[in-house]
Amino acid sequence: MTDPRRLIPRTDVVLAHPAVRDASSGLDPHLVKQTVVSVLAGCRAGQIRPESAITEVLAALPRSASSMRQIINATGVIVHTNLGRSALSEAAVAAVTRAAGTTNVEFDLSTGTRGPRGAEATRALLERIDGAEAVHLVNNGAAALALVSCAMAAGRSVIVARGEMVEIGDGFRIPELVESVGATLREVGTTNRVHLGDYAAAIDETTAFVLKVHPSNFVVSGFTSTVSVNELSTLPVPTVMDVGSGLLAPHPRLPDEPDVSSILRAGAHLVTASGDKLLGGPQCGLIAGRRAAVETVRRHPLARAMRVDKLTLAALEATLRGPQPPTLTALESDPERLWARARSIVADLADVVAAEPVKSEATVGGGAAPTVSIPSAAVALPASLAERLRALDEPVVGRIEHDRLLLDLIAIPCTDDGRLVAAVRAASSSIES
Ligand SMILES: *Cc1c(COP(=O)(O)O)cnc(C)c1O
Repeated sequence: MTDPRRLIPRTDVVLAHPAVRDASSGLDPHLVKQTVVSVLAGCRAGQIRPESAITEVLAALPRSASSMRQIINATGVIVHTNLGRSALSEAAVAAVTRAAGTTNVEFDLSTGTRGPRGAEATRALLERIDGAEAVHLVNNGAAALALVSCAMAAGRSVIVARGEMVEIGDGFRIPELVESVGATLREVGTTNRVHLGDYAAAIDETTAFVLKVHPSNFVVSGFTSTVSVNELSTLPVPTVMDVGSGLLAPHPRLPDEPDVSSILRAGAHLVTASGDKLLGGPQCGLIAGRRAAVETVRRHPLARAMRVDKLTLAALEATLRGPQPPTLTALESDPERLWARARSIVADLADVVAAEPVKSEATVGGGAAPTVSIPSAAVALPASLAERLRALDEPVVGRIEHDRLLLDLIAIPCTDDGRLVAAVRAASSSIES
């Protein structure tokens, strides 16, 4: 009997195999070679049959250099944290592509010398936030609050209402964040009620500021009372508010969601917020408010450790100055229009799968406006399609409701309806085969 190891192909032969070469385009040649070498080692160790070598190599190679795929968000959650929160506008995507090379992020083209970093992104924000004298950008909402707490309250105390001791998600708790930078929390009030007098009584010489946190992902109802920023601003210490969502001005669909401009006008010294929730931009954290306070924060050594990169600055500026970003377009969707799209998609699928247009209730997501449900429309499909739709090269992620798969249209730009139809066709045909 011949030794089966004699059937093991040589490394260069495997590398030259047309299917392997196809699968390797766009990948690091060293990575491809390493994959082949390790599969062939498996063959020699008797763990892989030599005739399966090519198949094993193909299975082991990454599909592309980046594993992040373009997903169609059919969940009905507009800002879906697991799907990367806000989708960038076309203007922002184009800006990111340009900034990805060498760019004038910190360079003045007229003088040919160093310029202020990201000056235009900052200016664009200032133009949009009524009531802000200055803004500073960091990597996310959590970094914004951490930097403010560190720069203003390390070794001092921060007063916060018990009803605003919020956990945002994945174990991230606002009070723990504030304490982690060396500030002491003074809790006031009860779970359901707090009064201005509670805050006033807690103020002493160690107080750095009063922190108000928007309880963005839950509501307390019944016998409750909170103290507004208007009232808090009468206290002899600064007020800082974490508004979370990044809404810059009031929005008619979200009457209970605080916005940065209104909170500053109500008297807050500083506001912190995320850039990738209702602002509709890239992941970043905004610190906006009074000039002196923003300067204190900006000059703290940790500010450098939280500095935003050029891609973020490019995307944010274009989000603010370009056409409306997809998150806001989704939020303002006309339910009649969504219904018409659902019917038309169902008609386009009639020959491949049993689909039905259904009314749906969409949500804002991203931990914002937890009680708001937005009238939407969806295409209902057999639940068995869910997994197949996620397995496509351009995956579609919907939600299961009453044993059916709903593809909610609210967060899908209408220009993607053709792609959605093509995806469902592809997934349905894979059922028959
Ligand atoms: C989302 C949120 C945060 C955290 O912001 P990230 O950008 O996720 O770091 C903090 N506070 C509130 C109130 C939030 O809603």
